[in-house]
Amino acid sequence: MPNVAAQIERIYRDVVHRNPGELEFHQAVKEVIESLVPVLRKHPHYAEHRIIERICEPERQIIFRVPWQDDAGQVQINRGFRVQFNSALGPYKGGLRFHPSVYLGIVKFLGFEQIFKNAVTGMPIGGAKGGSDFDPKGRSDGEVMRFCQSFMTELHRHIGEYTDVPAGDIGVGAREIGYLFGQYKRLTNRYESATLTGKSPTWGGALVRREATGYGVAFFLDEMLQARGESLDGKTCVVSGSGNVAVYAIEKIHELGGKVVACSDSDGVIHHKAGIDLDTLKQLKEVERRRIKDYVDIHRDAEYHPGACIWHVPCDVAVPCATQNELDGEAAKRLVANGCRAVAEGANMPTNPEGIKVFQDAGVAYGPGKAANAGGVSTSALEMQQNASRDAWSFDFTERRLREIMKEIHRSCYETAEEYGSPGNYVLGANIVGFTRVAEPMVAFGVI
Ligand code: NDP
Repeated sequence: MPNVAAQIERIYRDVVHRNPGELEFHQAVKEVIESLVPVLRKHPHYAEHRIIERICEPERQIIFRVPWQDDAGQVQINRGFRVQFNSALGPYKGGLRFHPSVYLGIVKFLGFEQIFKNAVTGMPIGGAKGGSDFDPKGRSDGEVMRFCQSFMTELHRHIGEYTDVPAGDIGVGAREIGYLFGQYKRLTNRYESATLTGKSPTWGGALVRREATGYGVAFFLDEMLQARGESLDGKTCVVSGSGNVAVYAIEKIHELGGKVVACSDSDGVIHHKAGIDLDTLKQLKEVERRRIKDYVDIHRDAEYHPGACIWHVPCDVAVPCATQNELDGEAAKRLVANGCRAVAEGANMPTNPEGIKVFQDAGVAYGPGKAANAGGVSTSALEMQQNASRDAWSFDFTERRLREIMKEIHRSCYETAEEYGSPGNYVLGANIVGFTRVAEPMVAFGVI
């Protein structure tokens, strides 16, 4: 019997060696493959077929120049990325991120996570991610449009309904998807709705896609609490971020009876003990594109703490919805000490490895992003389904589908963790479910 743990360690060392400096990618790989030791023991043929090594190597990586002109007529140059990681289960699928921190290591960590997340949903979609180091903050609509047009001028030749279907992520919402789709349609002379998801419902987008990631996180949280004989009712919650995922996580948590008392952006934290007022938050963020510090001008009983750590606000439930590694070991200890009993990740990889260990050792119900935030991509797959059948479903019907999908994701992760002797370990459950679903077709397809 080969030493499986040593094999995994060797694979990890190779990944680090072959992808120097890509720290987030290394972190994402380590977290997944370390939990696969029991799978390789049970299914030795995955090792013979070198499935893990193949999954860690993207099928294709595209890096390109994105030149555009700002409002002053100056030429600006950004870098664009699309990493098409794995297409064993279907066309590549995953969002685009526009943020100054974007580089290959971030795109690869997100693309790698996306493979397993998409598999966990049970939908026929592969994993990819893309984006640019372009910063949309403070840019006019015209500048964002010219950037998106230039970005798509290269990207269009690599994507398509049966090839690769991008969507939004940080810095890419309905406005950007509109500019990207407009340019795709113009370049290809084809109205291929299912080439991008996250479209406006006025031209082919699915109802509930905007809400889906945040709603899905709240549904997953509810499932985790129910599995422990609890519910969200009356629970005090803290949600980091104030973007798309955060806003709709807050909305559904409120509907399910929880009270969100804090949210944030990269400048500071709003603490509103009476509960975050969602109408104000939506008006500021979605309509006026302002910063959350302005919230306290409208709600005098709320507090704004510039540069503060949101995880210091006492809560029963924490929902990180901003960005990777926003919750470290110290923050996790503080949450646990303040009585936090459940964590559901809206963001991708927001809790670092030390933080995850603190939660698991303290018996906190911890739902990793791969499972908890999979509602967004699931609803994107529902959008593709509607586009393919030239159909448009109602809000209620689509939300019911989303709820069923989240319930099923929870069930499969929960039962798999039990089957592998780690009850309540959703990290292990999600990684094993995702991996085995991708590994099976990879074996079937032969060495490709
Ligand atoms: P948005 O751009 O709509 O919002 C991002 C929010 O996070 C903003 O409040 C932003 O604050 C904050 N934020 C971003 N970077 C940082 C940082 N370095 N430090 C502190 N705060 C930061 O993005 P989304 O809501 O779409 O995405 C949030 C997270 O959810 C990401 O991790 C994304 O990958 C993940 N996700 C998104 C999905 C989707 O459907 N949109 C699907 C699944 C996961 P500021 O304005 O100050 O930058």
